[in-house]
Amino acid sequence: MLPMPAACWLCQMPLNLARHGVCSICLRQLLQQSPACPRCGLASGHASRPCGRCLLRPPLWQHLLAVTPWQPPLKTLVNRLKFYRATAQAVMLARLILLRWLQEYRCGGPPRPELLLCVPLHSRRAWHRGYNQLDDMAQNLAHWTRCRYDRRGVIRIRKGKIQHRLNALARRRNLRGAFRVTAEVRGRHIALLDDVVTTGSTVAEISRMLLAAGAASVQIWCLCRTL
Ligand SMILES: [Zn+2]
Ligand SMILES: [Zn+2]
Repeated sequence: MLPMPAACWLCQMPLNLARHGVCSICLRQLLQQSPACPRCGLASGHASRPCGRCLLRPPLWQHLLAVTPWQPPLKTLVNRLKFYRATAQAVMLARLILLRWLQEYRCGGPPRPELLLCVPLHSRRAWHRGYNQLDDMAQNLAHWTRCRYDRRGVIRIRKGKIQHRLNALARRRNLRGAFRVTAEVRGRHIALLDDVVTTGSTVAEISRMLLAAGAASVQIWCLCRTL
């Protein structure tokens, strides 16, 4: 018996390659976003140079790439996938990040990372209980970009208050001492993976620690970026 043709997660059209999850038309639309600042990943007039905000107050990391802003259809997809536990979806989401990274890498964007790390699980919004989708995504990304992945390279050592109830300053204070970097990062280009980056305070705190430990550069990879 022939296997059932898989459908695109976004438009329900049949797929040639089921593991891709998203058809080529939807993929092109997803990756054809309006320009975003290469430093903060927020909407900007130019994709090739930092925005005004970053010129005034550059973020701690060197580069942030997001597949799209926090908006449909990716927002809907990410929200929907939180309730599933399937490796196939992690592969599809990882592929979106890979394609975005390749787009920017080929235009002289971020360097090829030598080490991939993830924001620790309970710093992030809850995915399917007990399932770390980001870990699956990271394994694929590390394999495709031929870099090392250290699952426990950044660990959470202290539980903070719930971040979204705090203002920016309280957020930064709340995160001080919350993480420990266990990976050897000295002289290495690091990619730090998260699902959705909002205020950026968590990735900023981890970037600060990585750079203080001698990392050559830090680039943030995420599915969606929003304020
Ligand atoms: Zn489609
Ligand atoms: Zn910027």
